[in-house]
Amino acid sequence: MELQQNTSTDQKVASLLAIMTIEEKVGQMNQYNGFWEVTGPSQKEDKARKYEHLRKGWVGSMLSVRGAKEVRAVQKIAVEETRLGIPLIIGFDVIHGYKTLSPIPLAEAASWDMEAIQKSASVAAAEAAASGINWTFGPMVDISRDARWGRVMEGAGEDPFLGSKVAAARVKGFQGDDLSAVNTIAACAKHFAAYGFVEAGKEYNTADIGTSTLHNIALPPFKAAVEAGVRTLMNSFNELNGIPLTGHTYLQRDILKGEWGFNGFVVSDWASIAEMIPWGHAKDKREAAKIAATAGSDMDMEGFVYVEELAGLVRDGVIEEALIDDAVRRILRLKFELGLFDDPYKYCDKVREKEVIGSKENREAVLDIAKKSIVLLKNENHLLPLKKEGQKIALIGSLAADKNSPLGSWRIASDDHTAVSVLEGMQEYTGNTLVYKKGADLSIGETAFTQETIINETDKSGFDEATEAAREADVVVMVLGEHGFQTGEGRSRTNLQLPGVQQDLLEAVYKVNPNIVLVLNNGRPLAITWAHEHIPAIVEAWQLGTESGRAIAQVLYGDYNPSGKLPMTFPRNVGQVPIYYNRKNTGRPFPNSDDPQNVFWTHYSDVDNSPLYPFGYGLSYTQFSYKNLKLDRHTTEVGGKIEVTVEVTNTGDRGGKEVVQLYVRDLVGSVTRPVRELKGFELVELKAGETKTIRFTLDHASLGFYNNDGQYVVEPGDFKVFVGGDSNATLSADFSLH
Ligand code: BGC
Repeated sequence: MELQQNTSTDQKVASLLAIMTIEEKVGQMNQYNGFWEVTGPSQKEDKARKYEHLRKGWVGSMLSVRGAKEVRAVQKIAVEETRLGIPLIIGFDVIHGYKTLSPIPLAEAASWDMEAIQKSASVAAAEAAASGINWTFGPMVDISRDARWGRVMEGAGEDPFLGSKVAAARVKGFQGDDLSAVNTIAACAKHFAAYGFVEAGKEYNTADIGTSTLHNIALPPFKAAVEAGVRTLMNSFNELNGIPLTGHTYLQRDILKGEWGFNGFVVSDWASIAEMIPWGHAKDKREAAKIAATAGSDMDMEGFVYVEELAGLVRDGVIEEALIDDAVRRILRLKFELGLFDDPYKYCDKVREKEVIGSKENREAVLDIAKKSIVLLKNENHLLPLKKEGQKIALIGSLAADKNSPLGSWRIASDDHTAVSVLEGMQEYTGNTLVYKKGADLSIGETAFTQETIINETDKSGFDEATEAAREADVVVMVLGEHGFQTGEGRSRTNLQLPGVQQDLLEAVYKVNPNIVLVLNNGRPLAITWAHEHIPAIVEAWQLGTESGRAIAQVLYGDYNPSGKLPMTFPRNVGQVPIYYNRKNTGRPFPNSDDPQNVFWTHYSDVDNSPLYPFGYGLSYTQFSYKNLKLDRHTTEVGGKIEVTVEVTNTGDRGGKEVVQLYVRDLVGSVTRPVRELKGFELVELKAGETKTIRFTLDHASLGFYNNDGQYVVEPGDFKVFVGGDSNATLSADFSLH
């Protein structure tokens, strides 16, 4: 195919579109999974059919094909065997790294370090791009308030402000400044939208939320991703207030492609167009195709619906060809931007693949963000950092030696069992005596269908050995939490406590030696109330990826002073969920009333209202104090702004970093406002004894909200600003808007 040079991308797209048949156009909207094992006749047939379609030019994209050699093979068919030779775009779930794995996204969000997050995404992009991939299905920007939902590990937590910053950083990291460069890939903000609000945290469930929550909480990170230039979005499996997202015209056409002016494309989630049939929204594939295309779903992922139905629908005059043209234009535009028409094999370079993937530099980058993602939850009597010499340390828990779980979910390109374990990380410090005892297995196998792990609920035969070692030790380090496959897609839980026999192991060890440092490895907030009440030191270490154990050891030994802050509230027990800091006050509020005995307050009779650890919370080996919160003015008008300053001092005896957080409360609104909302944060580094003045600017326009008609309004009235080291910050000042 000859394309005119020296014309704009849009002109090139138009001239190509003009010579395409309807089947070729629909082909661009069709995406097939290319990574599967042929284990029986039906897979064989499936594969043959896909290859036949590929040769006809009926496939625009493949997902999960990987490796320079494999990608080159399918690309060659698209480019050399089809009539027009349009290259494929190759998608892959690069969620937290490709081969060299970063911490899970929830953990990275705990760093509040946008530079490090961007860097981590750029490392992932470079590795994936060196393996033939040019498009990631990330970042996931779904806000979630429900720790039962297994996919919270893939997002940035509960807050739309932090979530928006993280979304933008990840998009910039994946896409870089130049999409056509060989170390950048197109990003995909997913899952549009409200997937994090599936009822009861149950995967793929219905979501039923009001306009206010949709616009103020769920949508902002998507808007931020679009503003950061994200080239694609993926819609979601759930329905929202009765409409499956794949068929959601209002969100896809009116908001995304209308109001936000998004000119990239929307890919469905895996077969989600066809899933409108079991949802009861479409009676058959033909109707599903019509609904999805009309609603603005541009590409059908592994659904076989568009490829079978769309051309017929156009021929029969049921849908206009202009609708198809719009989708195809969006898809082709990205292929041009990626430079695939200039050189379809540019991402398939075996030499680069060898050099880039797993490089020393990449491992250093993921180690850096792994350390920054760790959150110190408790540290009584300065148990941490550990002394480097002369101590007897007992290391307990099967997760301590686990080289697989720290990789977390979504790591199909990374071999299993490649993480540095905590045991290995601690062995790099040789001044102490280290004894390791497993205590008990966490996992005893895997279910065949969903790759869910089977948890050991009974076998305590290793307890005695573990307690014996603990009795002899000066300090016990216990690594407990979740298996890497207890979170991620399809892995919802109703119990947020330590799974299996781990709680019993913790209590058994505590009986013989309470001098315990509990290191948590998990992909969601856990309800560890007993541990909080008994264990002197607790470190939230999530699932930190390839360099996990090394990062944890460096924090335990004080070579890195932890600075992470929770991006999601930790509940006292699962019954409090959904629990989140930017809640509403209710008409009978708690705890801001004058009468603490008022029994009508909103509360539970069996547990405190407060969370175990609030959003934004995290300690350091040093301490910070806040004073002199000042506003440069106490009123402002349309177009004006308020400067907020606060002095932060490191009052401890070692250097450290603090995430200074600014929250605002709008006291009265035509739609009631949350008790506080994050409106700014800054990661500050302070030497021992040092004070810095931190400055925030509150624009008049940033103090509004979306009303129940979905319109952004800024209402005059009184506001309160709070500044501090977590969402319970108490230092406050008042201002008003006119
Ligand atoms: C997930 C997506 C993912 C896709 C492709 C789906 O099941 O929901 O997040 O990108 O599969 O692997």
